[in-house]
Amino acid sequence: MTAAVQAVQLARYEHLFIGGEWVAPEDGGFIESIDPSTGRVWAVAAYGGPRDIDKAVAAARAALEGPWGRMPGHERAALLRRFADLYRDNAAELAMLETRDNGRALRETRVDAGGHHLGYHWWASLADKASGRTIPFDDSVHAFTTRVPVGVVGAITPWNVPLMAAAWKLGPALAAGCTVVLKPAEQTPVTSLALGRLFEQAGFPPGVVNIVPGYGRDGAGERLTAHPDVDKITFTGEGATAKAILRVGADTMKRFTFELGGKSPHIIFADADVEQALNAATNSAWTLCGQSCALGSRVLVQRPIYDRVVEAFRARAAKVRVGPPLDEANHMGPQAHAEQLAKTLSYIELGRQAGAELVAGGKRLSGGIHGEGYFVEPTVFANVANDMRIAREEIFGPVAALIPFDDEEEAIGLANDSAYGLTAGLWTSDVGRAHRVSSRIKAGMVWVNTYRFIRWSTPYGGFKGSGWGRENGVEALDAYLETRTTVISTTGRFPDAYAS
Ligand code: NAD
Repeated sequence: MTAAVQAVQLARYEHLFIGGEWVAPEDGGFIESIDPSTGRVWAVAAYGGPRDIDKAVAAARAALEGPWGRMPGHERAALLRRFADLYRDNAAELAMLETRDNGRALRETRVDAGGHHLGYHWWASLADKASGRTIPFDDSVHAFTTRVPVGVVGAITPWNVPLMAAAWKLGPALAAGCTVVLKPAEQTPVTSLALGRLFEQAGFPPGVVNIVPGYGRDGAGERLTAHPDVDKITFTGEGATAKAILRVGADTMKRFTFELGGKSPHIIFADADVEQALNAATNSAWTLCGQSCALGSRVLVQRPIYDRVVEAFRARAAKVRVGPPLDEANHMGPQAHAEQLAKTLSYIELGRQAGAELVAGGKRLSGGIHGEGYFVEPTVFANVANDMRIAREEIFGPVAALIPFDDEEEAIGLANDSAYGLTAGLWTSDVGRAHRVSSRIKAGMVWVNTYRFIRWSTPYGGFKGSGWGRENGVEALDAYLETRTTVISTTGRFPDAYAS
């Protein structure tokens, strides 16, 4: 194909969404977005620089001080509902775009994008319920609290789940009455820009939602973080980036929500329904091509069933169809970008060198249907020790590390021996054990006899290095509200401190 023909076929998203208008970047430019299943450019998208961020923040501030700030909660709710319905009607298209942009298998993106409208409806239902409380004291005062929006929010999202991350931030922020500048990752700008059309059609006032893809350090992300008129940053991404954001945002005393990485333990006791546990454990090792913070990448298995589980992982890895993600026959697409592919392959090599036993996979797939795409085999390491780097660091690839244990105490110790604390799973048929173990796991979310049950209504977030604050649940609404305490004297009298 000639360059000219290819250029004609590229999808084009050449404007930023700022102040309710589609505008050309002022000091940004254009990102060539790579389809990771081919390694070739598939779309051209606008990205913003610092001046574009300044414009977006000014628009968000004006909306907050203007019609949006004065709009009653039930009217904000109505707009969110209209948006949710448009989202539902466009979910199939959004899923397809997300798959093109980050390579996630369409059979997964369809389910993911197909559910977000329910989340937006749920957030709409909370938009007029941010009530305060009265504080009893004595009859000289009437004291009460009101909940007010934090203000202008900078929402910075990663490349693995752009639509989901946007939903988890935009839903509660808008329900709380904040305005937002959404900055998706430079690798995956397309679906976030596509959301702009839906906000426009839903009739949101200009500037309530602004969408400016861009780079992080020295780019739109850093400007958003440093901007004195941004009140809060809500960020999903890597811990190292969160620390950089904290340092830059400290100067203006921003509020933060951080959703960071995970290295989650998935514990299978010998008394469990092992087939069900295997369904969950294999899926949670390979879904999203391993590129999710919540995956059970450390599978802790009690010794009596360890060999059986290893064998089952080997057999099931052979059944995973890895291929072009738009083909819904395929279970797993490519890694989302070339750097992630290199990172995954380097960790596989580290596992080998550390002496873990490679039971399945381990290689890049290329040629034939895989062409030049960034495909990796579903990979299984057995006899992994918890101090190996493949058990301690987030790989973000389809790599399961199977670690044996003897008893409950050892399982809990191994589970908690991690810098992360995002999620954990455990499988047992002993209800007492389910309570004992789940209550001692240091993670923000613990699943018993299930895995990755995550909904808009279930608070989600990390202990330890996995983050600050919670997304989803009413807790997330709190994260976009400030509490104002008002004290009104019932007498209007105030003593003269200098009278005598
Ligand atoms: P990343 O930290 O590299 O980038 C995330 C976002 O931050 C991007 O938009 C990027 O442009 C921006 N950014 C980068 N440097 C910045 C800076 N100095 N200032 C401001 N913005 C900056 O993360 P990633 O590689 O895109 O995403 C993968 C990570 O996200 C993994 O660690 C994964 O576990 C985590 N994640 C967590 C959750 C969760 O809910 N806990 C969900 C999805 C992904």
